[in-house]
Amino acid sequence: MDITREFAAHMDQSDPLSSFRDRFHMPILDGKECLYFTGNSLGLQPKSARAALEQEMLDWELHGVEGHFEGKNPWFHYHKFLTDDTAYLVGAKPIEVVVMNNLTVNLHFMMVSFYRPSGSRYKILMEAGAFPSDMYAVESQVRFHGYAYEDAVIEVKPRPGEFHLRHEDIIQTIEDHAGEIALVLFSGVQYYTGQAFHIEDITRAAHEAGAYCGFDLAHAAGNIELKLHDWDVDFAVWCSYKYLNSGPGGVSGVFVHERFAEQPDIPRFAGWWGHREMDRFEMKKGFIPEPGAAGWQLSNAPVLSMAVHRASLKIFREAGMENLYQKGRQLSSYLNFILQESNLENEELEFNIITPAERGCQISVLTGKNGHDLFEYLTANRVIVDWREPNVIRLAPVPLYNSFTDICMLGELLRDFSEETI
Ligand SMILES: *Cc1c(COP(=O)(O)O)cnc(C)c1O
Repeated sequence: MDITREFAAHMDQSDPLSSFRDRFHMPILDGKECLYFTGNSLGLQPKSARAALEQEMLDWELHGVEGHFEGKNPWFHYHKFLTDDTAYLVGAKPIEVVVMNNLTVNLHFMMVSFYRPSGSRYKILMEAGAFPSDMYAVESQVRFHGYAYEDAVIEVKPRPGEFHLRHEDIIQTIEDHAGEIALVLFSGVQYYTGQAFHIEDITRAAHEAGAYCGFDLAHAAGNIELKLHDWDVDFAVWCSYKYLNSGPGGVSGVFVHERFAEQPDIPRFAGWWGHREMDRFEMKKGFIPEPGAAGWQLSNAPVLSMAVHRASLKIFREAGMENLYQKGRQLSSYLNFILQESNLENEELEFNIITPAERGCQISVLTGKNGHDLFEYLTANRVIVDWREPNVIRLAPVPLYNSFTDICMLGELLRDFSEETI
């Protein structure tokens, strides 16, 4: 690896996914393309999204309510058009996944079914510093069951002076609290530090402790390799608008392991779309769920949002997850190298890369006193990165539309900044 444009161009030429960049709209500032490193926050728009949306607008225009059965993609079954590609994405069987609602909503619905405190087993174990929505969801769930957050939530924290969690500390904490934990809830990739967790090991430890184990994969889906079925995860939820490029506020995905597929008695908050399909429209009393994750649906499918998601998922299928993971790893290694070569971690700037080697595409930099200046400098140069309070810059080169040259150009700007500043 080196910092030259020649090296980056060479990497781009030998990249089998390089043509996928053309499938996306790159944002324009001052008449020029941006360097976009925030696919972890809002993925770019696939050029195919508009036609997918317009197809459903047209069917609505032409058919009105009959679009449920007469449309090109009958809305009545719309969620099913997403099932195979979703299962492929997260390493699941089709019966284990469904697309519905939004992420935090689904996290709540999953906790209704899989956080079932009783007796001395009533605690939730999670990472300290989880995404705020997850913290609020957990806080309100434990309170809903009559517990106090401080008592009912066990947070695993980094050791003093460290930024990310040690794997052995996570497993040890689960073992230490084995008798009290009802649910272990972790992210797949930590949104702040970019750390990827060992989903399989955490799940095994949780199960040995007698707890359910669920994951928020907001920053993992479409980013790191997932084998949710084989890893024996109980449930998982993710959103579609980050790495999955399906538009602001887009629909969410849900995984429920196959072993729960035929258990109609699992407590859940139900709605008509989760009722078994054969007599859903008989409008009778008595809820009988569809087998599998589909039985957790409540409302009829948000077709417009799903149409975009569907178009986006097709691109993942075409690119191939293996290829994406491989390029994602190369991009993040190259970014890590470029950051190290940019002389940011010197005494004056006091920047620190806090993302460990176990990671997806994102690298987080903890900044010193010049942090906000750097952020503004990058923005002024049409580089879109993400600032997280109090002082972290997150950079996420994603394999579908970022290139090695993007990273190389970022490096040139970073070196200019550090020369000007020191
Ligand atoms: C992005 C993100 C969310 C956002 O939740 P929404 O319900 O989609 O607004 C929640 N949790 C995590 C971990 C996230 O990264």
